[in-house]
Amino acid sequence: MDGRDIGDMRQLTCVGPNELEWREVPTPVLQGAGEALVRPIAVARCEIDPFLTSGLLPSNGAFAVGHESVAEVVALGDDVRHLEIGQRVVVAFQLSCGGCGSCGAGHSANCDAYPVLSDYGMQPLSGVEYGGMLSDLLRVPHANAMLCPVPEGIDPIALASVSDNVLDGYRTVAPHLAEQPGARVLVVCHGSRSIALYAVQAALALGAASVDFACDDAAALALSEKLGARPIPTDFGRRAERYPIVADCGVREEGLRYAIASTEPEGVCHSATFLPQPMVGLPLGKLYTLGIRFFIGRAHSVSLLPRVMPLIEQGRLHPEEVTTQLADWEQAPLAWLDDTIKLVVTRA
Ligand SMILES: [Zn+2]
Ligand SMILES: [Zn+2]
Repeated sequence: MDGRDIGDMRQLTCVGPNELEWREVPTPVLQGAGEALVRPIAVARCEIDPFLTSGLLPSNGAFAVGHESVAEVVALGDDVRHLEIGQRVVVAFQLSCGGCGSCGAGHSANCDAYPVLSDYGMQPLSGVEYGGMLSDLLRVPHANAMLCPVPEGIDPIALASVSDNVLDGYRTVAPHLAEQPGARVLVVCHGSRSIALYAVQAALALGAASVDFACDDAAALALSEKLGARPIPTDFGRRAERYPIVADCGVREEGLRYAIASTEPEGVCHSATFLPQPMVGLPLGKLYTLGIRFFIGRAHSVSLLPRVMPLIEQGRLHPEEVTTQLADWEQAPLAWLDDTIKLVVTRA
């Protein structure tokens, strides 16, 4: 297929702080044999999206929105072997080639072929517009790596957030429960509510003896209890107990400090926290003295999907139980700004 103009399509675009609208943009076309075009059908709002659309992070003009989705394959290059037209796929939100040293090592978030933060829907972070998933078509430059087939019989709406926030929840607990099977887990939620709740689900699915959920948000506390955690209302001033595994999910320094304070000596605190300020103080002396291991970093979308999808397929993980609002595609410009734990926008 060549690059000729085949008209425009609609794309949800952030045009100013908390101002979203459908805009006509050029329809993407295949540019190589390893590429695919997909049509998103269920798009979830990520915990970072409100930071982007609120204008907190400066953008280079208007930008496409949305980076967690399930889509249908519309066009495939000749080198894409494992997919068919019409098939439903989870789309990795980070652009990654699948063939470089970093991708081979499982570090697909930092693929050698792309500048850092080369993600869909995140032009304010990367400075590059790769398109957004609330659009009629999306170009996927490395289809073999970046598209993961939706298993037979799984509702695509249930998988809308699985390329990113579900993986975030999983990665905060999975490696540590593998190392300490049956350990008690504390999830600290100071923002990023859906990630924290996905962490609860993952910890229970992976055999944690118990999961406590420390939070100051009534809706998240209530949902955590429904999912099987013990809710601990807190203002993050004083820890309740110490735990061998602590998942830190949110956006506030006092929450991060509470998470570290709640970690046992020789325990693990794994942070999925994104703090926009450039410098945050950590109690390194305490971490050193107590031997607390502190992990932080972004999810590796392509590398983690094959580990999480089987859990969903086996009925051990139910991400749809965290979804608190479904919105019709046409309502996206307003619904995208609603204050709800996990929003999923779907085509009728
Ligand atoms: Zn995200
Ligand atoms: Zn790569």
